[in-house]
Amino acid sequence: MNRIKDILNPKTGFIRVSWCDNANIIRAKAVCVNSVKDDEISVGISRGQQGVPVMYDGVVAGCGLDPVGEITLKGDMSTLTPIPYAPGHARVMGDMFHEGKVWGNCPRGFLKKMIATLQEEGLEVKAAFENEFYLLKHDDKRKRDNKNGKNNKNNNNNVSIEPSEFTPFASTHSMDLNHHIISEIIEALIAQNITVQQYYPESGPGQHEITVQYSDALNAADNQIIFRETVKAIAPKHGLRASFLPKIFPDTAGNGCHLHLSLWQNNENILHDPKAKYDLSEAGEQFIAGILHHLPALMAITTPIPRSYRRIRPQMWSGAFQVWGFNNREAAIRVIKEEDGAIRHLELKTVDASSNPYLALGGVLAAGIDGIRKKMTLPKPVQRDPGTLSVVEIDNLGVKLLPSNMRDALDKLEKNEVILNAMGVDLWKSYLAVKKAEYEALQKLPSGNEVGLLLEKY
Ligand code: GLU
Ligand code: MG
Repeated sequence: MNRIKDILNPKTGFIRVSWCDNANIIRAKAVCVNSVKDDEISVGISRGQQGVPVMYDGVVAGCGLDPVGEITLKGDMSTLTPIPYAPGHARVMGDMFHEGKVWGNCPRGFLKKMIATLQEEGLEVKAAFENEFYLLKHDDKRKRDNKNGKNNKNNNNNVSIEPSEFTPFASTHSMDLNHHIISEIIEALIAQNITVQQYYPESGPGQHEITVQYSDALNAADNQIIFRETVKAIAPKHGLRASFLPKIFPDTAGNGCHLHLSLWQNNENILHDPKAKYDLSEAGEQFIAGILHHLPALMAITTPIPRSYRRIRPQMWSGAFQVWGFNNREAAIRVIKEEDGAIRHLELKTVDASSNPYLALGGVLAAGIDGIRKKMTLPKPVQRDPGTLSVVEIDNLGVKLLPSNMRDALDKLEKNEVILNAMGVDLWKSYLAVKKAEYEALQKLPSGNEVGLLLEKY
């Protein structure tokens, strides 16, 4: 483990103790190395932090929290990493504690609890988030207006958003145009112990995808925080800004953040069983069946803002139907059968980077665990593009559309005792209150204002 004083100047160095809230804003309090004793870091934050929505820094009604009272954010020292794009700063992920115990509202605590619950079944999940993001031109209008005395900080109408360039999918010209910025991002990810696997320009103008190696579930969620911070911090150094917002331009590809998962027992990937129905092990089938079953409710956590639902549309490779299939990029769950016939992992498409990765992955594990405990089975895989099926075929195959708006997904989550029980009363209360307040505020906004408000945040 890195020792703080070995990696930072004791007088000027700072360690950020990070957390990611219910609205999926990544926050931190930074502590000067000078005041750190015995390589242990704790900071106090208000309990109300878990009741703050994306629109403003204030606590929403009905979340069970108010500005009175403190909790302790304790740095997980095993995550200590110098931040390459912010010299002099390092980061640790924070765990929320109250009266000596993990606080019920802690998202990282929720994921840890789900990992431990899966362990009771003798199983472990490995995971990776597959991020897509847009590089956009900086909006100078706001800056200009501010200079001219029109302070429009809260007027999101004035945001004009343009892609950084207009090249197509996997264009090598895009690779060349963006070489410096993408290289700097990749180097910074590697410096923060993330193994990068692939990079290519995605289908949208100015859109890119960088994939990273899977790891254990907690590490995968931590890496997702690091990934988002790194991309967003490095883009402005090159005169651009980056956004993971699930849908920026109405007519071009959305930003997915597909979640890749595999199931392990005793350090062995156990998803594949060539002798079994669908070539999936019993536990593998049950785990996937649980996720498929709970998907409509899970979406309130994995695709958690009204704008998420502009992305999830048939024939956009974003998984608009509650189906699974082998190598089917229109199925919400794509089970990947490799060239040699092996099955090593699956991909959940109904996830975007406006979701808190600890809650998203924790929710998915809760659904999979329920599948295992209830010995759920999978329906037939769908090996066609569900968007092209006739009404009769849809009926025969039992194909269902997933929620097409956040209200519907929230209603499903509110009725889903399995996911709510897994979250525990504190977390589900604060989460639902924050998400309902966000839904009420955001669904009223004209699309341009919504993008303006959220672009910097995600
Ligand atoms: N951009 C698509 C989405 O919104 C995903 C494209 C892909 O398969 O990588 O999920
Ligand atoms: Mg992609």
